[in-house]
Amino acid sequence: MSSIPKIVILGAGYGGILTAQRLQKELNYNEADVTLVNKHDYHYITTHLHMPAAGTDSIENTRVSISKLIDEFKIDLVKSSVQEIRLHDKKVILEDGTLSYDYLIIGLGGEPETFGIPGLAEHAMSIRSINSVRLIREHIEYQFALYKNERKPQERINFVVGGAGFSGIEFVAELADRIPKLCKEFDVDPALVNIYNVEAAPTALPGFAPELVEYAIDVLKKKGVTFKLGVAIKECTPNGVLLSTGEEIRSATVVWTGGIRGNRLIEAAGFETIRGRVKVDEYLRAPGYENIYIIGDNSLVYNGDRPYPPTAQIAMQQGVCCAQNIVSAIRGKELRKFEFHHKGTVASLGKGAGIAVVGDKTYQGWKAAQLKKLVDLRYLFIIGGITLVLKKGRFL
Ligand SMILES: Cc1cc2nc3c(=O)[nH]c(=O)nc-3n(C[C@H](O)[C@H](O)[C@H](O)COP(=O)(O)OP(=O)(O)OC[C@H]3O[C@@H](n4cnc5c(N)ncnc54)[C@H](O)[C@@H]3O)c2cc1C
Repeated sequence: MSSIPKIVILGAGYGGILTAQRLQKELNYNEADVTLVNKHDYHYITTHLHMPAAGTDSIENTRVSISKLIDEFKIDLVKSSVQEIRLHDKKVILEDGTLSYDYLIIGLGGEPETFGIPGLAEHAMSIRSINSVRLIREHIEYQFALYKNERKPQERINFVVGGAGFSGIEFVAELADRIPKLCKEFDVDPALVNIYNVEAAPTALPGFAPELVEYAIDVLKKKGVTFKLGVAIKECTPNGVLLSTGEEIRSATVVWTGGIRGNRLIEAAGFETIRGRVKVDEYLRAPGYENIYIIGDNSLVYNGDRPYPPTAQIAMQQGVCCAQNIVSAIRGKELRKFEFHHKGTVASLGKGAGIAVVGDKTYQGWKAAQLKKLVDLRYLFIIGGITLVLKKGRFL
């Protein structure tokens, strides 16, 4: 190892940004060189993406320039796309260069998991980045415009969302809120528009208590969503989806939210993975590599015999822990075991509605919607202080 260790962080998502900020705070001058690599020069708030996707909030409220979040005198920001991780050479190959590292943190986020369902990768869209949600939003508006300019084909105003987990439910809720406005703008009868939420599991929102799930489904049905629970998408075609019931829903818009996997670059690097995610050790290191930490959607942390679901909450806590462990490793001190502190779960059901579990208390309706906003404001405060809260926050 060189006299000043080189720390490279891949990905400026929830995990990567928290790691960078904590390293910036803890490291002394000249104790290490820190480089943060991200595809874009902005950090996006993934937990908001369903809103700009449906068109109920702006893209600008969902992203923050990374240079506003870090001190570029202390951290080198490299805007580039990671192409390859070479474990044996301790190098990362970027689209336009190469970086060598002594310590590597991998926080490249997840990718949609299509479970081999034919046609999904080719014909469905997914909510995963600013660019992908921009596409969804423009596509939906274009369908309304086409509907009025063609012979009013129903598939233009049928919308299919695959998956009734967190992101699927939050997206259909926003879409249902947006449809009346689109109908007004494009002179379309709202009664003709259909939003289908298709889920292979027998219930929506796994992990929430049945009474909260029932409430959520009731709210969304009243907003006009048709649920098809316990029904699998068998195939996605250019014309829509074929379901396990034999039914075909003709639709020019299929948004897939039904699964998330780790990043393919991790598999390609040669780590042992389960659906692109690495089961990390108690200090968040990749097995066999004392200098490589894997966090967020790229990692698997077990709670007994089941892994914690990939969330922003766990990614943030991992970011802090892995930064502290790298500082300890550099200083020859003992590492800290990662322990996840679950602070609660909140899902938005669109304007003024939500469901939440905090400790042993459950909330629904307006209170839960306000809690969702508080969680969002808290995140903005953690990464950007009061300035960011005032700039990007959506208040009560
Ligand atoms: C619609 C939606 C709603 C959600 N709602 C919630 C919620 O309410 N609560 C919750 O806890 N979780 C929620 N999640 C899950 C949460 O967003 C993720 O678990 C979290 O973002 C994971 O953080 P991460 O740091 O692993 O990756 P990410 O936050 O995804 O960040 C990865 C970063 O890596 C960058 N990157 C990727 N590939 C490359 C490359 N090749 N080269 C360079 N940079 C690259 C990306 O641009 C991105 O900046 C939601 C997810 C979605 C999609």
